[in-house]
Amino acid sequence: MGAGRFAPSPSGRLHIGNLRTAVLAWLFAHSTGRDYLLRVEDLDRVRAGSEDEQLAELKALGLSFDGTMVRQSDRLPVYRAIVDDLKAQGLVYECFCSRKDIAEAGSAPHAAPGSYPGTCRNLTEEERAEKARHRPAALRLRAEANVFTVQDELAGSYTGTVDDFVLVRNDGAPAYNLAVVVDDAASGIDQVVRGDDLLSSAPRQAYLAQLLGYTVPTYAHVPLALNEKGQRLAKRDGAVTLEEITEQGVHPAEIRAFLLESLGLPGQDLQAALEAFDPAALPREPWIVRPENIVQQLMPPASRNR
Ligand code: GLU
Repeated sequence: MGAGRFAPSPSGRLHIGNLRTAVLAWLFAHSTGRDYLLRVEDLDRVRAGSEDEQLAELKALGLSFDGTMVRQSDRLPVYRAIVDDLKAQGLVYECFCSRKDIAEAGSAPHAAPGSYPGTCRNLTEEERAEKARHRPAALRLRAEANVFTVQDELAGSYTGTVDDFVLVRNDGAPAYNLAVVVDDAASGIDQVVRGDDLLSSAPRQAYLAQLLGYTVPTYAHVPLALNEKGQRLAKRDGAVTLEEITEQGVHPAEIRAFLLESLGLPGQDLQAALEAFDPAALPREPWIVRPENIVQQLMPPASRNR
């Protein structure tokens, strides 16, 4: 039996778009007989107290997790060992480029826009020593492919860029693309359900997974919640977190029903939604949310329009 997961970054409250993704990951996992695991991705952008808040929000929606929760900050030695292994195989190099350097260098010929142009790939010993005097090095993967294809439940077969992406940032922190691959494999996760803003990262991650001898997971990149202007849902949009909505008198079960119904599923509870769940029937377009209407729609009739 494999596993699916939800892997929030504890950088603030979960908004209803994140919660909808968590519900979807639960449905995907349970409808395929998988466990549903939780991983806290706290390698950067951490806000104190946010982990506990997020766990409480997920619980309030009735989402429970199997196994033991994994916290990335507890796993630094594991990432280090993997990078050392790749280094020993000659698959890692030091990179001294700033974002600005990369933007100014432009892409290498035939490479996808935005991919790393390979500036530091073949530095001599002397060049490296000289650059190291000015800036700490990040570590990049010496990739031997330019593209990789993944299978996605919603996007189908998706081919995207693989470049020499960063494995360890220049402040020493493991990069997201490394940690996510290592952690998914370590937990037996073979189904990755997450927002479709990460679809373009999947080929890099899948490439690294196969390079490390892991099973490449199946993916389902699900539509994001956007405001009416097509921007990602955020604080400025009003009451978008579970806390803000419940504060106005809406029960978490009603929020869950709203999320499930937005997916074309029955809203009464997770079990009923699971029985009706069909990935092929899921909406493919972004979920456009008008926060003021959520509360309006969900308020008990007696308290409406007061
Ligand atoms: N931690 C990432 C986020 O909250 C998700 C990473 C993933 O699911 O692979 O956006």
